[in-house]
Amino acid sequence: MKYISTRGGMAAQPFSDILLEGLAPDGGLAIPESLPQVPAGTLESWRGLRYADLAYEVLSLFATDIPAQDLRRLTRAAYNQQVFSSEDIVPLRPLDGGLSLLGLSEGPTLAFKDMAMQFLGQVFEYVLERRGTTLNIVGATSGDTGSAAEYALRGKKSVAVFMLSPHGRMSAFQRAQMYSLQDENIHNIAVRGVFDQAQDIVKTLAGDLEFKTRYRLGAVNSINWARIAAQVVYYFHGWLRATAGPGQQVSFAVPSGNFGNILSGHIARSMGLPVRRLVLATNENNVLEEFFRTGVYRPRPAEQTYATSSPSMDISRASNFERFVFDLVGRDPGRVKALWAELGSRGSFDLSALKPEFESRFGFVAGASTHADRLATIRSTYDETGVLVDPHTADGVKVARQYVEEGVPMVVLETALPAKFSDTIEEALGRPATPPAALADLELRPQRVEVMDCDADAVRRYIEAHAKV
Ligand SMILES: *Cc1c(COP(=O)(O)O)cnc(C)c1O
Repeated sequence: MKYISTRGGMAAQPFSDILLEGLAPDGGLAIPESLPQVPAGTLESWRGLRYADLAYEVLSLFATDIPAQDLRRLTRAAYNQQVFSSEDIVPLRPLDGGLSLLGLSEGPTLAFKDMAMQFLGQVFEYVLERRGTTLNIVGATSGDTGSAAEYALRGKKSVAVFMLSPHGRMSAFQRAQMYSLQDENIHNIAVRGVFDQAQDIVKTLAGDLEFKTRYRLGAVNSINWARIAAQVVYYFHGWLRATAGPGQQVSFAVPSGNFGNILSGHIARSMGLPVRRLVLATNENNVLEEFFRTGVYRPRPAEQTYATSSPSMDISRASNFERFVFDLVGRDPGRVKALWAELGSRGSFDLSALKPEFESRFGFVAGASTHADRLATIRSTYDETGVLVDPHTADGVKVARQYVEEGVPMVVLETALPAKFSDTIEEALGRPATPPAALADLELRPQRVEVMDCDADAVRRYIEAHAKV
């Protein structure tokens, strides 16, 4: 299996070579030259597997340059009960009205980013050690991704993490989650500013090629292919748990932001998994819902991006969307390149001519949700089933209900636990959500954080002093 760029300007490379890279050299995203197919018989033979071994089967189709016994060790180290609090790793629970909930939030940071990040941590360390090198991850976070990366990379010998966060602007729970890590390779830097300023510092440092090369700076952003591949696994797992035999169709509803999670569903479906519909749910930031409704992709400027009560879906542009468009236009890199050039010059592109294929060929449908919808859904789901869902998952449940079909299980992806977004739970139900017992004392633990001004040079000096060499 080799990987090429969606824009056609990269020589084909194996998995381990694209693993540590961000964008392809031509500005595109890495994508498999052709997708592996999983025949119905193979799929049935996976039915009894535990999650780590299913992950091995699926990931071995993508990481063909990692020896089988090594990959099996990596998936078992990533997906076990020391790391995830459910015996099944990803439990499937029934809701009402033909819906069920796929629990992707049983990992250390209580959100679905752990699913991919735990594998990424294992495979990063493996590839770096084999190459005898190290990596310094530099990123900015307003919560979810940064903490998932820190938990996945804590204690790793060949990697250090420098995570910038906006000082005083995350919830007490989020701060405690990140800042209570005491591992020497994890560096929390709280900058006196907002998230965008922290992000700008990261861009400044990554744009300094001399510094970037000397200190081997890396990133773990949402376009990383290994993350997409690791997420494909839970679509197979969800399908196997929701069905009893071959060929049965299942639909998946996915709370979406950067289009990473649902892209993995599209990949699974393209590999032959019997997926009927991929139901894309957005909040008020409905760039993607608008695309699937109209065929026009129109990213928004920052001032038109709303701060909502499902904050991890507050995006203005969807960084993984290009990979889906590549398939939509018949895997034609010249066409993708032209579309993104148009996006750069005009701010939008129009694929409405292909609109009839969105659902008929690719299974995509979409819907949007509002703050009022979230509150009502959290309330009604709790009243009718006793299950408490987080605000992001509530967006998924709300939109999923519009697309339920007789005889087709509708699996909603649970992207976070309610305790992470307790303010909104309190607004909906009049009482907060309780964190899992193991985290009851989280906010009382000692914290380790370096507070700095918004100054790229100060951050640079800190990295120089603490980087892995
Ligand atoms: C990241 C995230 C999302 C959005 O996922 P994408 O892969 O960016 O579409 C939704 N919900 C939660 C809780 C998240 O952390």
